[in-house]
Amino acid sequence: YAAKTGHGAGPVFATGLDDHARARLTMLEELRAGLDRGELVLHYQPKVTVDAGARVAGVEALVRWEHPVRGTVYPDAFLYTAESADLMGRITTVVLDLACRQSRAWYDQGLAVPVAVNLSVSDLRDPAFPDRVGALLRRYGLPPEALELEVTESVLMTDADNALLLLGRLREMGIRLAVDDYGTGYSSLSYLQVLPVDDLKLDRAFVSRCGTDPRSAAIVHSTVQLAHSLGMRIVAEGVEDADIFERLRGYGCDLAQGYGIARPQDAATTTAWLLEREIAQKAAV
Ligand code: C2E
Ligand code: MG
Ligand code: MG
Ligand code: MG
Repeated sequence: YAAKTGHGAGPVFATGLDDHARARLTMLEELRAGLDRGELVLHYQPKVTVDAGARVAGVEALVRWEHPVRGTVYPDAFLYTAESADLMGRITTVVLDLACRQSRAWYDQGLAVPVAVNLSVSDLRDPAFPDRVGALLRRYGLPPEALELEVTESVLMTDADNALLLLGRLREMGIRLAVDDYGTGYSSLSYLQVLPVDDLKLDRAFVSRCGTDPRSAAIVHSTVQLAHSLGMRIVAEGVEDADIFERLRGYGCDLAQGYGIARPQDAATTTAWLLEREIAQKAAV
């Protein structure tokens, strides 16, 4: 600390911290303003059935921040900071609204595509959350099947009793729930006993290696069986090529999502993609 009072070489580390804190504050200020200006947008990544038809079973909404100077900012670069500053509640509200609005537009075009939204720790701490979701569905005239909610293992573990209660209420409303990034957290088997969820989304760490690493292959295969014996669907994340898709088919995996099927795209591009698939699938029948 002595060096801090003087000038010269001493405060390098402290300056580093100050820079970090300043960058964080700047980001939060810009994020608050960006929320007011509508700079958050959603990209959508399709999920398809793991069979020759590869039918669309839904899309996942992934948030992006269209920053006026920095361009597109990805969630890993700002969600953690947002959470630490209690901004996640606002972000989820914006994301849910955009997702429901888009789902409504797709239903109106004859595309009944469920949209999945990722939740954070603060959402499952808010006892009013299920009622707010219900009100949102009513506002857009959407059935509960139009919305799916994803929670990671770490979100579940943070306040497990409360999270279980809220998830139970959401599921009673008819909303499909998924465990995200399955396999990367801990105590996964004890909560699988009680968790009111419909889908397990197996993390891409296992999926992407199942073509080359026998252990990953064994994990993917047995997790498919585990999910099925618990009455859940299994969704493989991070499917990057046709070889992995074929393997997943051999394991009996239900759904797949990944760059090899489609990258996350903006709403207009996703709509075009969905319509093209729809036409191609009708023609194939
Ligand atoms: P996630 O929910 O597990 O979403 C999947 C992430 O993997 C996305 O990254 C997606 O672009 C990426 N991905 C998809 N297919 C592939 C693939 O084949 N290979 C590889 N390498 N990556 C693939 P993204 O969009 O950067 O999102 C990262 C994480 O940020 C998400 O992981 C989710 O946990 C969180 N997130 C995104 N949007 C939201 C949101 O609206 N709210 C909350 N609370 N979290 C969000
Ligand atoms: Mg997700
Ligand atoms: Mg995931
Ligand atoms: Mg993730």
